Amino acid sequence: MKFTYASLPTRVVFGKGSLASLEEEITLLGASRALVLCTPNQRADADAVTRRLGSRCAGVYDRAVMHVPIETARDARAEAMRLGADCAVAIGGGSTIGLGKAIALEHDLPILAIPTTYAGSEMTPIYGITEAGVKKTGRDARVLPRTVIYDPDLTMGLPLDMSVTSGMNAIAHACEGLYAPDANPVMSLLAVEGIVALARHLPRLLENASDEDARSACLYGAWLCGTVLGHLSMSLHHKLCHTLGGTFNLPHAETHTVMLPHVLAYNRDAAPEAMRRIAGALGSDDAAHGMQALSRSLRAPQALRDLRMPVEGIERVIELTLTHRYANPRDLEAGALRRLLEDAWEGRATA
Ligand code: NAD
Repeated sequence: MKFTYASLPTRVVFGKGSLASLEEEITLLGASRALVLCTPNQRADADAVTRRLGSRCAGVYDRAVMHVPIETARDARAEAMRLGADCAVAIGGGSTIGLGKAIALEHDLPILAIPTTYAGSEMTPIYGITEAGVKKTGRDARVLPRTVIYDPDLTMGLPLDMSVTSGMNAIAHACEGLYAPDANPVMSLLAVEGIVALARHLPRLLENASDEDARSACLYGAWLCGTVLGHLSMSLHHKLCHTLGGTFNLPHAETHTVMLPHVLAYNRDAAPEAMRRIAGALGSDDAAHGMQALSRSLRAPQALRDLRMPVEGIERVIELTLTHRYANPRDLEAGALRRLLEDAWEGRATA
C-alpha cells in the first residue's frame, strides 16, 4: 500500500435544525457583513437566512444561475464590493455555491455554504465559470467553503426527480474516487459509506419524499461523496459529463445519472477492486449492473437522447475526450468510447 493523504479544512455542522447555528458560525468566521446568495426561486430560503443574520446581513444577491456565467460573476462581485461584504453565505445547490466561489476567487471572501441539493460543491476547492459558452474549471484553495451547514430540513422541498439525479451525481463522485489515481484508504472508506447511504435512502424518498430520516441520510451521503470529490482527481466519467454538458448544454445531474452505469461498465476490468467495493455498497454482484438497477428503480432518466443530445454529437465528444485526456483506469480508445456513448444515448442495458 502506498498513498499520500492531506485533509481539507472545512468546518461542517450537520443535523436537523442546524441552520439555527448560523449566527454562531458567522461569528466564528469573524464576519459581520454577509452577502447572501441564492437563485431567484430560492429567495424564500435566502430571506429566512437574512432574518437569522439580522444586522449581520449586508444584502441579498438572488440572481445565481446554472454554470456561473462570467457576467453574473462580475455583477455579484461588484455587489459584494459595493456593500462592503466580508463573507458570502450561499444557500442553494451547486450553481449558487459556484457563484460564491467566483466571488471568493477574486476577492478572497470566506464562504459559508448551506447546501440544499446533493451535488457536493460545498466540500470542494473546484470552481467553474462560463465565458463565451465555454465553462472553465480549476482548483483553488480560496474557493473552498470555510464552513458548511447541512440542515436536512432545507432539502425537504427538493423535488423528487432532482433529489434522485442529484443523489446519483454524488454517487458518481464516490465511484470515481474509488479508482482515482490519487485514491487513499480514508477517501475510499468515505466513498463506500457515501454510496451506501444514498443507495439505501434515495429509494425511500420515492415512497415518501418527506421522510426526514431518509433526507438526513441522503444529505449525509452527499457530504461524504462531496468530500471525496474535493480531495481526489476524477476520471473518464466526470470528463465525459463535463464535455457533454458544455458542448450540448445538457442538464448537469441528469447527464451524470445517465452516464454513470455505462462508464462503470467501460472501466469494469481495469479497476476490479473499486468495482468490487461499489458493487458491495449497492448490494449487487456487479457495479455497472447494480448502478443501472438502482437508477432504473429510482425512475431516473436513462438515455442521452431523452436529454436532447443530438446523436451526431457522439463523434465530437469522442474527439474532445481523446484530445484533452484524463487519467482513467482503462485506456481511452475511440471504438470502445463510441460503444459506451451509443449505449448511453439509446439508454441500453449496460455492457
Ligand atoms: P443547481 O444548483 O443548479 O439547482 C437547480 C435548481 O434547483 C435551482 O433553481 C435551485 O434554486 C433549485 N433548488 C436547489 N435546492 C432546492 C431545494 N431544496 N428545493 C427547491 N429547489 C431547489 O443544481 P445542482 O445540481 O446542485 O448544481 C449543479 C451545478 O453545480 C452544475 O453547474 C455543476 O457543474 C456544479 N457542481 C460543481 C461542483 C464543484 O465541486 N465545483 C460539484 C458538483 C456540481
